[in-house]
Amino acid sequence: MLADYHMHTSFSPDSQFDMEDEIRCAIKKGIREICFTDHVDHNIQAHQDCPLREYRLKYEECRSKYQDQIVLKWGAECGVQTHTVSLFQKDFDDYDFDFILLSCHQIQDLEFWNQQFQKGKSQKEINEAYYQEIYQCMQLYKDYSVLGHLDAIKRDDPYGEYDDDQVEEILMAILKKAIADGKGIEVNTSCFRYHLSDLTPSKKILQMYHDLGGRILTFGSDTHKEEHVGFKIEEVKEIVREIGFKEFATFEKMKPIFHPL
Ligand SMILES: [Zn+2]
Ligand SMILES: [Zn+2]
Repeated sequence: MLADYHMHTSFSPDSQFDMEDEIRCAIKKGIREICFTDHVDHNIQAHQDCPLREYRLKYEECRSKYQDQIVLKWGAECGVQTHTVSLFQKDFDDYDFDFILLSCHQIQDLEFWNQQFQKGKSQKEINEAYYQEIYQCMQLYKDYSVLGHLDAIKRDDPYGEYDDDQVEEILMAILKKAIADGKGIEVNTSCFRYHLSDLTPSKKILQMYHDLGGRILTFGSDTHKEEHVGFKIEEVKEIVREIGFKEFATFEKMKPIFHPL
């Protein structure tokens, strides 16, 4: 069963991909289920707030139109920061989400992709601050399904990919907290287009989550355009099986549904 649980449409500021074109593309590629996860980032000047109402209405229209061809779910990728938690809480209370990715894209409103946050910091400072921010957000915000691209700071690290061993303690704390709260982690196949040396998150982090007892995994391509849809999800499943996982999850109204890997 092929499902893609990380899909951006033109409701995200960094994607022009029309929702219906995306659905037709997924159907053509034989994908059985997709979940839209448009960006919600509060307090970021370069981003307009996601028009959740319009995004929801378009989704409902598409869900009826394509119900015989594909299962469509509705979610968001929330770029939560410790000081914006209450804004995300309000969005969650106002709308009926199937799935939420908790991602870290900024700290103190400074973005990673353009190096605003990293500027003037050592590699140790960047990586420790990144994982600390995620850990703190997890204490404050519980209405999410999985941690999105957990080690994605590696994409934007000006010094190269930091070794997981250097941050093992905080990674361990994050994974234990996720498991205790019934949360999963996402395997994000954008690692291939960012030319990273490992999966996102790394095999080591996936192994740690598995060995600690974690069982909730989703797969997502982080689609922003046609060629990304479903990219390498089947191949990555094989690697995840070797780590020891036997199932992956889709979500409905924030509850996981398990499928054999
Ligand atoms: Zn992201
Ligand atoms: Zn994304």
